[in-house]
Amino acid sequence: MPVRLATPSEDNVGPFNRLSASQVNTYRSCPRLWFYEKVRRFKMPQIPVLFVGRAVEEAICRMLMESPALLVSKASSDTLSAIPLDENGVPSRSSLDPWPAERLLALPENMLPTDMAGLKDWAIGRLKVHLHEALNSMKREWEKDERRAGDWNSVNPDYCLQMCINGLQFHLNEVQRCLDQNGGPGLKEWRRGVRPEWPSPDARRYTLSNNHPLSRNGEVSLIEAWEISRPWFVDPNAGKFAMNAVHPEHWFQGEYDLVYRWDGRINIVDLKASIGRGDRSGNYVQQLRMYAMLWWTTHEKKQQVDALEIWYLGADSIKSIPCPTVQEMTQMEEELESMWHQLREETPSLAECPPEPAPVRGYKDGGIAIEAPNEVRCSRCDWESICPGGQGNDQLPEGGSIQLPGTSNAFDLTPIGELDPRMTFVAEVFSIIGVRKGNRPQITVSQGNTFAKVILLVDQHQDGEPSWPQNLAKGDRIKLDNVIPSANWKGEIELKVDPHACIVHTSEGDVASDFMDFRARWNVSGRLIYRFEKRGVGRNGKEWHRKGAMILDATGAMKVEGWANDWGPQYDLAEIGDTVVVANIGLDAWAVEIRGNISRNTKIHITERVERD
Ligand code: SF4
Repeated sequence: MPVRLATPSEDNVGPFNRLSASQVNTYRSCPRLWFYEKVRRFKMPQIPVLFVGRAVEEAICRMLMESPALLVSKASSDTLSAIPLDENGVPSRSSLDPWPAERLLALPENMLPTDMAGLKDWAIGRLKVHLHEALNSMKREWEKDERRAGDWNSVNPDYCLQMCINGLQFHLNEVQRCLDQNGGPGLKEWRRGVRPEWPSPDARRYTLSNNHPLSRNGEVSLIEAWEISRPWFVDPNAGKFAMNAVHPEHWFQGEYDLVYRWDGRINIVDLKASIGRGDRSGNYVQQLRMYAMLWWTTHEKKQQVDALEIWYLGADSIKSIPCPTVQEMTQMEEELESMWHQLREETPSLAECPPEPAPVRGYKDGGIAIEAPNEVRCSRCDWESICPGGQGNDQLPEGGSIQLPGTSNAFDLTPIGELDPRMTFVAEVFSIIGVRKGNRPQITVSQGNTFAKVILLVDQHQDGEPSWPQNLAKGDRIKLDNVIPSANWKGEIELKVDPHACIVHTSEGDVASDFMDFRARWNVSGRLIYRFEKRGVGRNGKEWHRKGAMILDATGAMKVEGWANDWGPQYDLAEIGDTVVVANIGLDAWAVEIRGNISRNTKIHITERVERD
């Protein structure tokens, strides 16, 4: 099975605490790099090539999902996209709605491809349709990204299409093998409509009640070979990370790209929209070896994969990775489990993640290993200007107090790790409007003569419980647990409810704070790690522009952001690595992430300039 969902009753790790192949690879390439990106949540610059890879993969998967017996090559890209999904974003097993492929009548015989060349033409037509849509949607995503970097004009759609066609040709080789083997060992069952527990996505339901609608008699047909050889992949319409394979003990998970299995052998393929040059190619080898271990452990250690392949679409070449032995997988499982205990069970400190990068590995086109280049990892690391491995150091600010020029009072600085944006209140429901199923009501609560507005940002707490009681009514006494208080521009108190907060009716002994205890303004100091910007046009047609900064102190890191005009000139003067004080910020949060909001009263001041060589 390419998917093994978590078992909620046994899962005491949770989706955000599992180890993944990319985390393992990051940690092994440099523990400090892992700390910066996974613990402090620094986000590397988002260059177009990162988005192109996703567009190419999406175009290929959408094309693979389709059938030349159902769609003409110029059909709309969303013909098969209305897949019924369950509440977790997984294609639904119970929905009674018709599935998209079931609504389509098979095309007349004279419109079907009759040979591989015709099949390839049809598939290239589909790739063109899907790639165009996928690149446009990725461009929109890139434009919205606050860490956007580079120039979208560097994206060459013809090159992207060529990468898709290279992937298609690798798949057509499988179709040809399937034809040569007369449909392989599963032909009869496939014709009878028998499907595996996780069928390869084809916009049909999990189980068919009759023979497969595209089945024939006699020798396998070209259309049948296309259908039978289709690999498993994540349905492009499914929710993000909804279709992982989760280790039976829940501490590791992965999502395979393609799994070929029509001939009874298991071949896991990783798609790479690159040529395979450079150090990263070493990570892909390890990733696939971990996937082999994951397959084995999610099949009760009774089934092993038969082949592992990296398809370097930019180099038009396939790299085969030797499958690990049972002994190697046993050892790998032990090592990864102990890494999970070390990294995810309890978060390690900065000092426990030393700036000790692994040597850079050498690979040429197609991921072929060559002699290692004479360079150090730090020289091309995104964090080299702030990390001790590069030009930075670990002497980070940690609270204290400071006198800023032009102010009469000293500012107390709170260490970032001590900021707590959440509070718990008990209050009375003063008004509740819009209590209809599917709507988030507008709630105002009161403590005596003090009022606060409740802002419901979600419907469910992270543990799956509703964020507010469905029978809530005016006059009820409620506990607003772990909410995020803030003051809006009119000075009104707002209480935000995110996945870590919830509203329940009060019970005896509830201890809570007074609205007036909430502290609206904080001062912090930290090293400037990067700046970011977002622009857009509001519903009223007005342009908006926000700017922000990621800052790091000895105890934590946080994003501080606000309207571009509210940042003073020191924001633009500060260089990466400088120490800044940001005084008078409001606190905001989303799940575990804490953010600072700046306003007109905020002051930003550079207190220490970085010394550059
Ligand atoms: S600069 Fe060097 S030591 Fe620091 S995170 Fe990057 S690779 Fe690791």
